[in-house]
Parts: sequence; structure tokens; C-alpha cells
Amino acid sequence: MSPTATVVGAGVAGLATAIGLERLGWEVTVLERASAPREDGAGLTLWPNAMRALDAIGAAAAVRSIGMPASRATIRSARGREITQLPIAELTARYGPMIAVHRAELTRTLSEHLSEPIRYGSTMAVASGKLLVDGRAVSGTLIVGADGIDSSVREVVTGVVHPRQTGQFAARGVARTGSMTPAVTTEYWGRGLRFGLVPLRDELIYWFAATRTRAAAEHPLETFAGWHHPVVDALEARQVGSTPVLALQDLPALNAWHDGRSTALVGDAAHAMTPNLGQGAAQALEDVAALLDELGSAPVPEALAAYELHRRSRAEYVVSRSRLAGRVAQAGNPLTASLRDALARATPARALLRQFATILEPSP
Ligand SMILES: Cc1cc2nc3c(=O)[nH]c(=O)nc-3n(C[C@H](O)[C@H](O)[C@H](O)COP(=O)(O)OP(=O)(O)OC[C@H]3O[C@@H](n4cnc5c(N)ncnc54)[C@H](O)[C@@H]3O)c2cc1C
Repeated sequence: MSPTATVVGAGVAGLATAIGLERLGWEVTVLERASAPREDGAGLTLWPNAMRALDAIGAAAAVRSIGMPASRATIRSARGREITQLPIAELTARYGPMIAVHRAELTRTLSEHLSEPIRYGSTMAVASGKLLVDGRAVSGTLIVGADGIDSSVREVVTGVVHPRQTGQFAARGVARTGSMTPAVTTEYWGRGLRFGLVPLRDELIYWFAATRTRAAAEHPLETFAGWHHPVVDALEARQVGSTPVLALQDLPALNAWHDGRSTALVGDAAHAMTPNLGQGAAQALEDVAALLDELGSAPVPEALAAYELHRRSRAEYVVSRSRLAGRVAQAGNPLTASLRDALARATPARALLRQFATILEPSP
């Protein structure tokens, strides 16, 4: 008989886990709180380490087929002056392509790899230290908490852990810019404000705006009025899907990622990070690849321990790097912002490559 697993959450981490477990011969149930797949207007950049993990899970080709490889990436001032370029060609040559996808399309594509339908409208709850769905205890050889930053499953592994606020907010959307769609991934740095443009397929652009107040994120056209024209073009274009606003948060280091028996955390449930390095989904996928690898060669309790040992320090390192990057990039004080720009201009490509290597090199 096949071993059984319950995966909680149908985001990137949960879907990738379920795909990989099915390939290992497990019988998998995916529970998702939302009543239907989410269609938010949002994109995602999958860095080479994300693509490498997807390859191990067996879903890279499908994701490549819906993605847009990045060929150039620049950082500019609010008025459009180039501050620096990222060495995308060198990164691609060393580590493989960086692919931008529409989030809803990514989750739809991953879902299509599953043999059993996702159980939408199923919320995992915790009562007296037990995991319950619809009032019934969850059973199975393995329970994977892929339920995001506000994870319920985490409570039975570590007790209650609250996310940390950063004092920053983000709005994001996908716009149909047609023939005006810029071909270059661009991040604009202002004072206390940032704006990103990421080309997707089909003449769509994914944009994100990082601000220091919720009100500024809720009114991006006013907040970014007068910025370089591709920013204003993206905001004025027809928006595809909703444009959600959220507080940027991350998680402090947890005291454990598994309960020693049958329950483990992956993705944001274990190590939610700020989006400044574009690494949240990549680290989630690295978790999944490592967990599957361990489950393929050891009984569940040993596999969970080996998984945590393999992944934890690397993910925690990226959480702290990402938090620091956000503080620097979001500098509000004019002097600090000028220093930030000068430092970015003066950093040679080889130093940038060394910084990227700490995240993109495969872990031993
Ligand atoms: C503005 C922004 C931009 C980002 N950009 C990038 C990027 O470019 N590249 C990148 O790699 N990362 C990026 N990230 C990070 C990335 O989005 C996350 O790290 C990634 O989506 C985490 O996936 P996950 O599956 O762990 O969690 P989630 O995507 O949060 O999925 C969790 C799922 O669990 C469900 N759920 C929650 N609670 C329950 C429950 N009790 N019962 C059942 N289901 C439940 C939720 O409904 C949800 O579907 C960005 C994040 C933000 C905020």
C-alpha cells in the first residue's frame, strides 16, 4: 500500500511537494483554505536556484513553457537614470536562466501535474495541539505544512510564532502594456519608494511598488506620479486581475521545522522572507527538493530531521540578507539614498557575481 501524505496549502511550496510525493509513489491529499484558485495580478521571478529545484521535482519544463527568461536587468533612479546593471548574461551562463511567470499561471500549471484534485475550501485548524480539518483529526504518514507565513501547522511544530513587520508595504499588479511592454527587468529606486517592472509573456508586465505607508501603496498612480514613463505607463495601462496591497513581513528563525515524527514545514511556513531578493519561492522550492530527496532514502522521522539539517541555515541566511537588502534599498533619508546609489554604481560586476554566488550556488 502507498504511504499517505496530507499537504496543507496549494501555493508554490504545497503544489511542488505534492507533485514530488506523487512521483515517489505517495498517495497525496492537498488541502487549500481558499475556495478556488487565486487569480491575483502578480508575477514571480524564478531565479536559477528555483529552476534547478523545479528540475529535481520534475516540473521545470512546464514552468519554462509559461515563463519569460530575463535577458537584462537594471536599477534606475526615479527619473530613469541608470544606476547599475545586474550581470544577467553571466548569471545565466553560470547558473541557468532566470524566468518570470504570472503567479496564477504558475499555480495552474503545477496543479495540472497532480493526479488528485485539490480540496479547495478545506481549512486546517489547531485545537488542543491537534491538527483538524472540518472537525476531524488529520491522519497520514506525513503532514506537510505549506500554509504560508501565517501557518496553522507551524503551531503544532513550534508553538505560536508571529511574523515580524518591516514597516514597508507593497502593491503589485499585472498590466497589459501591449507594444509598450519594456523588454528589460527594471527596479527604480527613489527615497523610501521603489518600483519594479518585470516583463512577462504575451505583452504583459508585472509591476510592484514598495512604500513606507499603506496609503502610498494603495494609491500608486499618485505616489509614483512623475516617475520614469514606463512606471506611469504600467500603472495607467489596463490591469489584469486585482492589485493587492500587503504589509511586508518575515519570520524570525524557528526553533524547529518538524515535530520529530510526521509533520514538517516548507516554504513561507518555515522561513517567510521579505521579497527584496526575489528568493521566497526559490527557497521554498529548494526545501521541497531537499525534503523529497530525504524521503526517497529514509523513514519519515529520520528524513524530516535530515531535511531540516540540510536546509535551515541556508534559508535563515537568505531571510536575513533579504531583510537587510530591503532596509538599504528602501532608504528614505536623502543622504542615505545618495550613498546607496553611489555604492551600487561603484560595485563592479565581479563583486555582484560573488554576492549572488552565496545564494545561487547549489548547497553541498
Ligand atoms: C510582493 C512580493 C513579491 C515577491 N516576489 C518574489 C519573487 O519574485 N521571487 C520569489 O522567489 N519569491 C517572491 N516572493 C515570495 C513568494 O511569493 C513566497 O515566498 C512564496 O509564494 C511562498 O510560497 P508558499 O507556498 O510557501 O506560501 P503561500 O504562497 O503563501 O501559500 C500558502 C497557501 O496555503 C493556504 N493556507 C493558509 N492557511 C491555510 C490553512 N489553515 N488551511 C489550508 N490552507 C491554508 C493559503 O491560502 C495559500 O494558498 C514575493 C513575495 C511578495 C510578498
